[in-house]
Amino acid sequence: MEKFFSFQKCSATELDKLEAMQLLLRGVKTPFSPGANVAIKLHWGEIGNKHFLSPVYAREIVRWLKGLNFKPFIVDTTVLYSGGRRDGAESLRTAAKHGFTEDYLGCPVSIGDGLDGKSIVDIPAGYKHFSSVQTGKVVEQAEGFVIFSHFKGHMEAGFGGAIKNISMGLASRAQKQRMHADVKPQLNEKKCILCGECAEVCPTGAAVMEDGNFPTYDLIKCIGCAQCIAMCPETALRIMWETDFNVFQEKLVETAAAIWRLIRNKTIVINALIDIVTECDCLPGSHPLISGDKGFIAAYHPVIADAEAIKIIGSAAIDKAHPNLPWQRQFSYAREIGFI
Ligand code: SF4
Ligand code: SF4
Repeated sequence: MEKFFSFQKCSATELDKLEAMQLLLRGVKTPFSPGANVAIKLHWGEIGNKHFLSPVYAREIVRWLKGLNFKPFIVDTTVLYSGGRRDGAESLRTAAKHGFTEDYLGCPVSIGDGLDGKSIVDIPAGYKHFSSVQTGKVVEQAEGFVIFSHFKGHMEAGFGGAIKNISMGLASRAQKQRMHADVKPQLNEKKCILCGECAEVCPTGAAVMEDGNFPTYDLIKCIGCAQCIAMCPETALRIMWETDFNVFQEKLVETAAAIWRLIRNKTIVINALIDIVTECDCLPGSHPLISGDKGFIAAYHPVIADAEAIKIIGSAAIDKAHPNLPWQRQFSYAREIGFI
């Protein structure tokens, strides 16, 4: 594996940060074939979040790629919870509200698992938790990737950087649920509109809806795939967040590792170490800083990019933000399964 990484320091002002990114990009060699369509995977921020990365940085990556005759597009996937990104149309409205528009960026803005969250693909994994993982189809459709991640804290993973941006960030809604918890569908009848979608998407016939009655879920037949939870338009099936934190780190890493096998020869990873707060861009509101702005890292491997980011900001900052979260398990498990 290519061990290359580079770090470009920045100073406090917005212009200096942008200059730091420009300098970083100038030193990065692209692994893409000529004219490739390149997905820039980023997070355009949940509604109400105050810390997502400004679109000015994404625009700089777009300019850089276009200058090299590649065809960039911006991508993110739909999420499990209601807010501003549960379905594709809603998520694109949130993106536009946060400045991520085709007009501003100079390239299309798209949803990697489709507007309805059904443009998905199962890819082999062969790991302890997942024999396969389900992702947005964009992992097959894009000819190259720039994984552009805002490095900051995270309430379950300890930190969120490139590993999480690939893993949770490219996963289908069902895979997102599988990472968070083992699934047993639980219906809230008050929210159910009897649309039948859960029974339609269930791959085993465990979810059944008959004669206009509420759906039922046969837990013997159920394989815990979470499709029903992912596709219910009313979030009438409870999303489960309870998790063993060690298992969560492992599942996060397995999903990233399986996706990485598909994209590793055509991907650049960039971590932005600016506005480093305790919580992820999925969480509305303002959050305390855990470090001053540091700069930007480019690498050809997400585990290297995240390890370098932690070296630069110091592991104590992560521990202080999220005491007792076993975030180090991401690195030890990545080594155990050969994802480094
Ligand atoms: S979790 Fe999967 S297998 Fe179980 S009821 Fe839902 S869709 Fe069917
Ligand atoms: S998909 Fe949701 S709203 Fe539709 S029948 Fe199933 S539980 Fe009810």
